[in-house]
Amino acid sequence: MSQPRARIAIIGGGPGGYEAALVAAQLGAEVTVVEREGLGGACVLTDCVPSKTLIATSGMMAALEGSAALGIQLHKDGNALARVDAPRLYSRVRALARAQSADVAARLSAEGVKVIAGQGWLAGPRTVVAGDTQIEADAVLVATGAQPRILPGAEPDGERILTWRDLYDLPDLPAELIVVGSGVTGAEFASAYQALGSQVTLVSSRDRVLPHEDADAAMLVEDVFRRRGMIVLGRSRASAVRRTGDGVAVTLQDGRTVRGSHCLLTVGMTPNTAGLGLAEAGIMVDERGFIAVDKVSRTAAPGVYAAGDCTGVLMLASVAAMQGRIAMWHALGEAVKPLRLSHVAATIFTEPEIATVGLSERAVASGEAADAAIVKLPLATNARAKMQGFRDGFVKLFARRSSGVVLGGVVVAPRASELILAVSLAVERSLTVGQIAQTFAVYPSLSGSLTEAARKLMQPTEGTAG
Ligand SMILES: Cc1cc2nc3c(=O)[nH]c(=O)nc-3n(C[C@H](O)[C@H](O)[C@H](O)COP(=O)(O)OP(=O)(O)OC[C@H]3O[C@@H](n4cnc5c(N)ncnc54)[C@H](O)[C@@H]3O)c2cc1C
Repeated sequence: MSQPRARIAIIGGGPGGYEAALVAAQLGAEVTVVEREGLGGACVLTDCVPSKTLIATSGMMAALEGSAALGIQLHKDGNALARVDAPRLYSRVRALARAQSADVAARLSAEGVKVIAGQGWLAGPRTVVAGDTQIEADAVLVATGAQPRILPGAEPDGERILTWRDLYDLPDLPAELIVVGSGVTGAEFASAYQALGSQVTLVSSRDRVLPHEDADAAMLVEDVFRRRGMIVLGRSRASAVRRTGDGVAVTLQDGRTVRGSHCLLTVGMTPNTAGLGLAEAGIMVDERGFIAVDKVSRTAAPGVYAAGDCTGVLMLASVAAMQGRIAMWHALGEAVKPLRLSHVAATIFTEPEIATVGLSERAVASGEAADAAIVKLPLATNARAKMQGFRDGFVKLFARRSSGVVLGGVVVAPRASELILAVSLAVERSLTVGQIAQTFAVYPSLSGSLTEAARKLMQPTEGTAG
């Protein structure tokens, strides 16, 4: 006799939810996804996909900016090399997001996943309610994501005081954009809008931009920002933002006021966990509302899993998707490896990009990997970088002195997001610097600097920690 199909209910159709649904369907489960906004989630509709689409255009603008040095004459008379057609850009961003969401819907439908449009909540650990529908499940996954954190005294109005979700409805580019917050999201939008043609002021409460990232990479990017004309205000915490007729005024805690045409707030995320019936179902949240999970995505309630931004573990689409898949493998009795955050590759899509994987230099400095050697090679001496006309970038590798095993790396370069895979593979498979050094890299190529860094680490006298 065949076994009854396992029933899986998922609240939230972002990467945490829809990737889990695909895995569960593949494993033969009867899967229902409840989603209130649109499949693909905030990732596809408002956050990751739209921002990277915008950055495709800003990257093109930055490339045009540098094109004269490569012998390209774009026009003979005017000042600006090119102008951004904002309505067209924003409509491309919105259309691409919708198309991506439709692709996700088509994939789920092809796998036989049932999708209910509506607000879902838990009426018990194994019961999800959406409108009039009650879904009984053997396992439930909560993947409800997060939303922009709002500062009291700086409430967005969608017109001039904005979160990134408002940007693509603007009629034009902001002339003078004040970006509050210099974490990943703030730095990406500041970089993009400066390249698109806005005058950007970046308000950072810390000493430098990207305070949680590799210090060399963050300082390089901040230097590039300033050289491109961005105003970067360090150690400046915004306390209030208000409308001033045709502009905005940002009040800093030290009493200064910064004025511009628009203000973009990028001060973190709040989990979408209120009103879900979590406490009643026995699910624990922390003081900020993030759902507590273990490394196989289990919550405190048996049979209930959680994945993605609502857990606050690491707010990346790739991590959300992996948490969701792990939850399903675990729930459906498959062999499963716990989530390993030390192997996550991530990129900050500034110009140039910063890509990282594995151990950080901060961890080396704090003694987490006492045996680590570090090599940093600037790309200014790389032949391909010279040909392409850029100087701002480097590769950095960390490896164990004793065994030569690669522990992590940082790449700062245009398209660093594509270059980091080699280091990611090395970290995942515990490859040694010798194995990388003996691998052919194309000449000329930026990846040649990765094999060169590995060669340097093979010579103990040349690898210096710190
Ligand atoms: C500007 C920006 C850029 C980013 N860029 C990148 C990037 O380049 N790379 C990367 O890896 N990550 C990026 N991220 C992070 C990435 O977007 C998130 O980590 C990812 O969206 C998390 O996926 P998720 O499934 O947890 O949540 P979401 O994508 O937020 O999806 C959750 C879904 O749940 C739905 N939902 C919530 N509550 C309910 C309910 N009660 N009932 C029904 N449905 C509900 C929501 O409508 C939403 O559709 C970026 C984030 C931001 C803000």
